[in-house]
Amino acid sequence: MNFEGLKRFQGCLVGVAVGDVLGSPVEGASKEQIRRIFGVLREMIDGYRPAGNITDDTMQTLCLAESIAELEEFSPDDAARRLLEWYRKDPFGIGSHTLQVMMRVDRGMDWREAVKEVERTNAPWTAGNGSLMRCSPIALRYCRDIVKLIECSRESSLLTHANRLCQDACAFFNAVLSRVLLGWNKRDALSFTMEILAHASQEILDRVQEMLHKSADEVPTSGFVLDTLECALWAWWNFDNFEEAIVTVVNLGGDTDTNAAIAGALMGAQCGLDAIPQRWREKIRWRDDKTIIDKCIALATRLYELAEKD
Ligand SMILES: [Mg+2]
Repeated sequence: MNFEGLKRFQGCLVGVAVGDVLGSPVEGASKEQIRRIFGVLREMIDGYRPAGNITDDTMQTLCLAESIAELEEFSPDDAARRLLEWYRKDPFGIGSHTLQVMMRVDRGMDWREAVKEVERTNAPWTAGNGSLMRCSPIALRYCRDIVKLIECSRESSLLTHANRLCQDACAFFNAVLSRVLLGWNKRDALSFTMEILAHASQEILDRVQEMLHKSADEVPTSGFVLDTLECALWAWWNFDNFEEAIVTVVNLGGDTDTNAAIAGALMGAQCGLDAIPQRWREKIRWRDDKTIIDKCIALATRLYELAEKD
C-alpha cells in the first residue's frame, strides 16, 4: 500500500466534511456580510444546529461511499435506496431540487421517473450543484478506470439531477479529482481532463479557461452547478494550503457549504489528510455521533483498496 496515496483518498472525504461544516452557518450570506460580522471566518461556529454538524453535502457523499464500499461497485439503485433512507431520517440542509425528487420517491414513484418528472417540471432551472456535492466517492473507486469513472459520475448525477450540465460537471470534476488522487500535478490533471472531455459541454471548457485568470473577487459562488465547479477548481488551482483554500472559499459567500465541500474534496486529495487542521476535524459530528471523520477515513481506505484491485 502506498502511504501517500492512501492519505490523499482519506483527505478527500474528510475534506468534504470539514468544508461543509465550516461553510454551512453562513450559507447564503454575501462576502460583505461575512466580512462585516466575522472579519475572516476561520472557525466552525453554530448555525441552524450546533457547531460541527454536517449537512446534506457530507451525508449524501457518505451514502454513495457506503454503497460502493459494500457492493464494491457503483450501483445507482442501491445508492438511490440509501438516499431515500437518508431523506426519511433527517435530511438536514436538503436542496429544493433534491427535495422534490425525494418527495416523489418517498410516495412510491420509481426514482428514475421522479427525476424525469422534476427535470420536466422545473426546466430550465434544474442545473443546481446538488449532484456535484456528493460525487467524489466515484472518483475514489474508479480513479484507475477513466471510462467507468466518467460513466458512473454521470449516472450518479442522474439519481437526482438529470440536467446535462450537472452530469458533465460531475464527470469533469471527478476526472480532475482522480488525477489528483493518483498524484498528478495540477497542470497535467487539468489538461488531461480537458482533452478527454473535449466533446463535453463547451460551457464547462470555457469556464475552466476563464477560471485560470480570475481573481478572488471575480469567482462565482452561486448554487448553479457551473459556478460551483468553477469556484472549487479556482480554489484548488490557486492554493497549495488546505486551510487557506477552504477559508477563502467560505469567505467568498454564496453557497458556502457546498462550494467548500467540493473544494474540500479536491484540496483534501491534493494536500492529504494530515494537512487538514486537527481543530476542525475534532469538531465534526452528526448530532451525538462524533465518529463521522472516522467513518470518512474508513470508507476512503476501503475505496482505496478497491481502486488498487483494478
Ligand atoms: Mg449543505
